[in-house]
Order: sequence, then structure tokens, then C-alpha cells
Amino acid sequence: MRSTARERNWSGTVTYSAERVVRPRSIDEAAELVAGSGRVHGLGTRHSFNDVADAPGILLDLTGIPTDLVVDPEAGTASMGAGTRYGAVAPALDRAGFALHNTGSLPHISLGGAIATGTHGSGTALGSLSTAVRSLELIGPDGSTRTLRRGDPDFDGSVLHLGLFGIVTRVEVDVQPTYRMRQDRFGPVPWDVFTANVAAVHAAAYSVCAFTLFGDEVGEVLLKSRVPAGAEDVAVPEDLFGGPRLPGLAADGHHTARDGSVGPWWDRLPHFPIDTVPSHGSEVQSEHFVPLRHAAAALDALRGLADRIQPHLHVCELRTMAADPLWLSPTQGEDVLCIAFTWQKHPEAVAALLPDLEARLAPFGGRPHWGKTSSLDADAVEALWPRLPEVRRLVAAADPDRVFASSFGARVLRT
Ligand SMILES: Cc1cc2nc3c(=O)[nH]c(=O)nc-3n(C[C@H](O)[C@H](O)[C@H](O)COP(=O)(O)OP(=O)(O)OC[C@H]3O[C@@H](n4cnc5c(N)ncnc54)[C@H](O)[C@@H]3O)c2cc1C
Repeated sequence: MRSTARERNWSGTVTYSAERVVRPRSIDEAAELVAGSGRVHGLGTRHSFNDVADAPGILLDLTGIPTDLVVDPEAGTASMGAGTRYGAVAPALDRAGFALHNTGSLPHISLGGAIATGTHGSGTALGSLSTAVRSLELIGPDGSTRTLRRGDPDFDGSVLHLGLFGIVTRVEVDVQPTYRMRQDRFGPVPWDVFTANVAAVHAAAYSVCAFTLFGDEVGEVLLKSRVPAGAEDVAVPEDLFGGPRLPGLAADGHHTARDGSVGPWWDRLPHFPIDTVPSHGSEVQSEHFVPLRHAAAALDALRGLADRIQPHLHVCELRTMAADPLWLSPTQGEDVLCIAFTWQKHPEAVAALLPDLEARLAPFGGRPHWGKTSSLDADAVEALWPRLPEVRRLVAAADPDRVFASSFGARVLRT
């Protein structure tokens, strides 16, 4: 077991206040640590941009516990250690003949951390990874293990859990027969054309991501098209809402292939391959989710801040996600447009801008991503998540002495 103090998140913008980070090598070792410590909190691969993973006491990093992938073809599930990175398990899942329904932009993060925060890719018909969870194995406050299963009365309230219910040791997720995909680039699409057709643009392929700098256009739209089972390839258009097809970009070590070549799902759904620093590497991110029916109005409202946004922006990515029933989900109840800002590493400037940006999204009920920066306080969060009081009751029942309490949970969720 390795133990270290004063560690930081991936972006280097949060120094954990925890006493130390401990990396157990087995689930038994993790259970002993929970039973023998005062305050404990789960830690993934540290890719969140805020202090959601931080807590007093010790942080348990489960990335050293073996993956132990178990595929159940009959049930259509795969289970694995919660500290497993997507990129480490996806090729093995593919070789076994199976696939996840979607992934986020990077394969570097742990499945446990992704599920805890509702990490998502794009697709109007696709939910976050949390929606694919069949069951979670958790270590409770006394060190004993319990299993939370889809269908249990508390499941929808505790699957997207922000680390507040215990230490998740194994995750079981829905899988489907493996598939192949291709990525094709289009653009630019004039701003007004894009906003008038947001839902249709995002329905143009299995998974669609659009990139803008809030100028007169949406510079690039990336279609991630799924090849039907048994087919060699899938047809893609030559033009997308006035945006011509752009020259393909082969895999370059930093991005997955965006050249129309057909490849495995795990090498097309993420934007970045596992063996590189993802995204810009020097950045801050914020993201908000607005009901898809308000997409055009929300984007126009943000564009009114373009002069203040642009000096700090790397790029803004627009995606969609399907409604789900999970109580803490940012997409609970309604299909959404996801508005994700990758900012330059100007944390003070971004922090100063966020209240105005979030005020522009307030009329549309813009909910923030749990793993990214936001200025919203507990009152604002309370208004945006109607089932929060019930989540608090579940947390209190699962962890009466608040062994797993986090600073973020106390400040933002009043848990
Ligand atoms: C470059 C970059 C790109 C990104 N792209 C996307 C994207 O495409 N889509 C998206 O939605 N998000 C994206 N994110 C955000 C990121 O996916 C989330 O913040 C995710 O939660 C990070 O997972 P992690 O393993 O690093 O978890 P951490 O940040 O370490 O922890 C996140 C939460 O999970 C809890 N947790 C983790 N493991 C356990 C466990 N075993 N038991 C109990 N609790 C646990 C922690 O307590 C904490 O609450 C991106 C982040 C970066 C840095």
C-alpha cells in the first residue's frame, strides 16, 4: 500500500486538503482502511476540476486494485474494479465481443469516478455512464461490503453518488455486442443556422460534438457514426447544414482518427487516445446542461458574453445527452444540450466570469457538471435538483456518522 500527502488534481488547480492519499492493493485492504480510519473518501484518477473528490481524513485511490474484468454474455454486463481506467479495459471488452454504449472524451479516467459524477459523451439518445450501471459494490462505514442493484428502491438516488455513500470497489455495467465507428468533420456552420437546428444537427449521427469560439459560426461538427452490424462501412453526408465535409485528420497521437476510417468503438468515441495527455493539458473546465428545447436561447445568451469569454477560451464543445431518472443527474427529467468550456488555465479569470455566465443560463435551469468548476452555491443547487432532500435522507441512512462526508458535499449539497 502506498500513502502520500498533499496531492493535487489532474489540472493542478486543486490541492487536496486530505491528510493523505492511500492506494490499497486489494478490496480487503481497502475495507480494513475504512474500518480503521476516522474519515475516508473515494478518489478516482483525479480528473475533476473542483474539490468534489477531496475530504478531511484519507482519500482512497483504488487504481492499484486489479481490474479483474468479468463479462457475463447472458446478462449483457461487465464488472470490474472501480479504479479501472476506461482505456485499460475497453480493448479487453472489445476482444471479448462487447462494448459500452458511449464514453466521455478521454479514456484516462476511472469508471468509478465517471459513474460518481455522471460523466458523459454525446448522443441525444444516450445517457451518461451512470445510466449503464447494473450494480455497485460498496464498502460501508463499518468496513462491510454491500451491493446496490438496479431495481433497489434507493438505486436511482445513490448511483450517481459523488463519493458520499461509501467506497465503491466494483462496478457492473450494461454492455452490448461490440461495434465499429468512424469520425467525420464538417464545418463551419453559420451560428444562426446551427442554433436554429441544434437538435437536428445532434441527430445527424450516433454521437455528435460541435466546437465553437462564440464567433459567427460553429467551426467544426464531428459526427461519430456507428457502422451497422454486418456492414463494412456507413454512409455519411457531404454537407451538414451548410457546413461542407472537412479534410480528414488521421490519428496523430493526440487525437483519435477523424478521417472517416472505420475502427473500434473505443478508438472513435473518445477524442483522445489513452497514451497521450488529453485535451490541452493546461486548462480549467466548466460545463452546464440546459434542456434541449432551450438550446438556441441559451447559446445566444452566452454569445452575448463573447468578448469576455474569448480571451480565456480554448474551445467550447456542444453535445447532447438523454434524460435519465437519477436523482443527482444533471440531465434528470429532460434531454439536454451540454455546453462544455475548456478554458485556458486562468482560474481566477474563469472564477470571475462564471457568475455572469451562470446568470445567463439561470432562466433555462442550467445545471453544472459535478466534476467541473461552478460558482453556484447551495441555494442555487437546491433549486436545480428537486430530489436533493431525498438524497440527503439516503446519505444519512447509509452513513449516519458521516465517515464519507466531503467538503464539497457539505458546502454545495448540505450533506
Ligand atoms: C481533459 C478532461 C476531459 C474531460 N472530459 C469529460 C467528458 O467528456 N465528459 C464528462 O462528463 N466529463 C469530462 N471530464 C470530467 C471528468 O470525467 C469527471 O470529473 C470524472 O468524475 C473524473 O473521474 P475521475 O476518475 O478522475 O474521478 P475523481 O475526479 O478522482 O473523483 C470524482 C468523484 O468520484 C468519486 N469517486 C471516485 N472513485 C470512487 C470510488 N471508488 N468510490 C467512491 N467514490 C469515488 C470521488 O469521491 C469524487 O466525488 C473531463 C475531465 C478532464 C480532465
